[in-house]
Amino acid sequence: MDNESAKTKQEALDKRYIRMAGIWAENSYCKRRQVGALIVKDKMIISDGYNGTPSGFENVCEDEHNLTKPYVLHAEANAITKIARSNNSSDGATMYVTASPCIECAKLIIQAGIKRVVYSEKYRLEDGIELLKRAGIEVEYVPLATHE
Ligand SMILES: [Zn+2]
Repeated sequence: MDNESAKTKQEALDKRYIRMAGIWAENSYCKRRQVGALIVKDKMIISDGYNGTPSGFENVCEDEHNLTKPYVLHAEANAITKIARSNNSSDGATMYVTASPCIECAKLIIQAGIKRVVYSEKYRLEDGIELLKRAGIEVEYVPLATHE
């Protein structure tokens, strides 16, 4: 396969995985924002996550003032920590996430050995993206297309 068709194939895969991450985000019981993440390695989905409270906590993300509770985990953190409980390794993997990673998640992504991040929704703060790039991680913006 030449470089051009390999690139087109990767783009098509990226769009599909980011769409799957979008569907996965629907699992989130958070009302303010639903985010989904997938970790893909060697063409296999090795982990998934969506934003929510830790296991065993109530399935409510917002407090009485409609503010997100401080112990809500982001989708990326849930996907990475799920790997810690499995026999898989995120080393060299790609993360698909429906929103631009925040700086806290960017740190986890770097330490998890993830080499590529594909995200679909830009956020006003770009410090997470900048940190990923500084760590030499390939970052790609793929907008979530509703029809394709
Ligand atoms: Zn985050």
